[in-house]
Amino acid sequence: MKIESLDLPDEIKRFYENSGILELYPPQAEAVEKGLLEGKNLLAAIPTASGKTLLAELAMLKSVLNGGKALYIVPLRALASEKFRRFQEFSVLGMRVGISTGDYDRRDEGLGINDIIVATSEKTDSLLRNETAWMQEISVVVADEVHLIDSPDRGPTLEITLSKLRRMNPSCQVLALSATVGNADELAAWLDAELVLSEWRPTDLMEGVFYNGIFYCKDKEKPVGQPTKDEAVNLVLDTIKEGGQCLVFESSRKNCMGFAKKAVSAVKKTLSKEDRETLAGIADEIIENSETDVSSVLATCVRSGTAFHHAGLTTPLRELVENGFREGRIKIISSTPTLAAGLNLPARRVIIRSYRRYSSDSGMQPIPVLEYKQMAGRAGRPRLDPYGEAVLLAKSYEEFVFLFEKYIEAGAEDIWSKLGTENALRTHILSTISNGFARTREELMDFLEATFFAFQYSNFGLSAVVDECLDFLRREGMLEKDPDALVSTVFGKLVSRLYIDPLSAALIAKGLREAGTLTELTLLHLICSTPDMRLMYMRSQDYQEVNDYVMAHAGEFSKVPNPFNIAEYEWFLGEVKTSLLLMDWIHEKPENEICLKFGIGEGDIHATADIAEWIMHVTAQLAGLLDLKGAKEASELEKRIRYGAAPELMDLLDIRSVGRVRARKLYEAGFKSTAELAAASPEHIAVLVGPKITERIFKQIGRREAVSEFSDIEPLEKGSSD
Ligand code: ADP
Repeated sequence: MKIESLDLPDEIKRFYENSGILELYPPQAEAVEKGLLEGKNLLAAIPTASGKTLLAELAMLKSVLNGGKALYIVPLRALASEKFRRFQEFSVLGMRVGISTGDYDRRDEGLGINDIIVATSEKTDSLLRNETAWMQEISVVVADEVHLIDSPDRGPTLEITLSKLRRMNPSCQVLALSATVGNADELAAWLDAELVLSEWRPTDLMEGVFYNGIFYCKDKEKPVGQPTKDEAVNLVLDTIKEGGQCLVFESSRKNCMGFAKKAVSAVKKTLSKEDRETLAGIADEIIENSETDVSSVLATCVRSGTAFHHAGLTTPLRELVENGFREGRIKIISSTPTLAAGLNLPARRVIIRSYRRYSSDSGMQPIPVLEYKQMAGRAGRPRLDPYGEAVLLAKSYEEFVFLFEKYIEAGAEDIWSKLGTENALRTHILSTISNGFARTREELMDFLEATFFAFQYSNFGLSAVVDECLDFLRREGMLEKDPDALVSTVFGKLVSRLYIDPLSAALIAKGLREAGTLTELTLLHLICSTPDMRLMYMRSQDYQEVNDYVMAHAGEFSKVPNPFNIAEYEWFLGEVKTSLLLMDWIHEKPENEICLKFGIGEGDIHATADIAEWIMHVTAQLAGLLDLKGAKEASELEKRIRYGAAPELMDLLDIRSVGRVRARKLYEAGFKSTAELAAASPEHIAVLVGPKITERIFKQIGRREAVSEFSDIEPLEKGSSD
């Protein structure tokens, strides 16, 4: 089917033709035949890189041209940015595009001027809770990676959000995009959608298992040279020799780094002069952006054409690695499966070095086929590679047989709703009531009838859990006591709008009510004791130190559990460890020191601080509403967690180009406030933080005088991690 033949305005057809897209891929053509451009609901369950985004684009453009508004829901913030950048290209067609990933208690009404809005599912849920007006105008909603309904963490939110959007705008078109799953027909039936189910791919994918020097696919065998002792390195070299790049998936961060280091000496020899020069530039940027030991290892690897990628790296470092790979300079990335979950970063050969992953319930377990397919699907860059190869490694014949049967020959698993537990439902029941979607128990059950859970298991299974949730919400004062009507209290409404788990809100209210003196530690531990916080693991070497700390500061915790209750006490120690990380952060301990002390990466510090800032914000709001102590203290801590610094630096840190390290440098040199900076000589400041930053600072504080005369001054010390 030609783009030219589609029922779309000429300018849109030209837009695609100019970018080289002249003809639809077969699954895309099937979607059009099934009503994509006529507003029909559709589920496309097709492999990675087979053009799902284009389907979304066509449906969104058509709907917007008919006066509607499109919402594109993604599971990850990084994916939201990627899609946003892509859709911004439609500005030449007069489309306005917005992105909403920020604070959860904002309405973001301003975003309503856009035609296409990209948001994570959590943000979409919070916009609904805050009764954002433009949500009513949505005429097409795209749910990307909809198979994540199966995920215990994110699935329930996506499921409820889709149910709410459909109830609010019954005529809204739903386009769900999924990896191939076993029960796609069931998912489509739930969405009242036509199903496009296909295994078609634009580049051939050879999937197979490597064993004893040979890569065995379904209908082919291919020997691979063995210049080194390591099989995976040999597979990498083989691909580079043919002009390709590799993605190597590992089960742990340590192994990711280990493999990138291991491949250095072999990959280095394959680099051209241009490669080396560009890679040196990327490595320098890595060092400029971060001063941790891990980033210096990353920089060393990158100079030799290898890299690693995981959630312990900060976003700027991950982006440097991704871009270096896209440009073809970095030859291999070894990554945890995070990269497979969404980012568009294909490679000629994907090597899955570990097909097992650790789970706290059952130890090391083989990953699901669905996850394997997500990784394998990254193989083969459309239009650039003649084919893609996904390689699993077997160490024995038995393993070879197992891998072939499980991953190459079998299909993906079914997906199952994870909504049916009190933990998953509590928050969504409160928001459903607060937003007026249900005013009686009957209406609530009627609303829940529309979820995938009820579709899969029948509504009956939910009844008892719903009653437990309603009891909890009434007991905690978030719902009025009236047994016949469901009405949220002012407290309940605020909890829903703040997008916090009602159990967290109840724990915070209780903690503030019962606390004696409120120290920094009391408040930090209080937020770390809520289920919304992401706790750090306890390593065996942590027990003694954290336990000693608890003994020394016992009076500052609202309650210390009995150490003989081992499970409860261990959990508590995890909360304390996380509080200690935040304590070091707000007391300006250098990031590298924190990383080494807690065995984490910089990315983890930022992710933990992000969540903590939000829960501390909630704490301040709840204390204000309920007239409890701690509102002012929590507000101050919220800001300190945002910047990772002591109170005296807050004024300087309000200047955008000043981070915690530069602020401290300025403060120690006697520039303690914005006012003092405004009165300072630019030369003096430039000596401290460099001319470029000085220029930015002065612009922001309203002194725009030329700074060119001191632009050759070098800062005293090299850049910070600001
Ligand atoms: P998916 O979302 O399924 O992983 P994408 O939509 O990102 O895949 O598509 C992968 C690549 O294929 C993109 O670069 C896209 O521009 C290109 N593409 C999509 N449809 C077509 C088509 N019909 N013809 C040529 N290229 C296409």
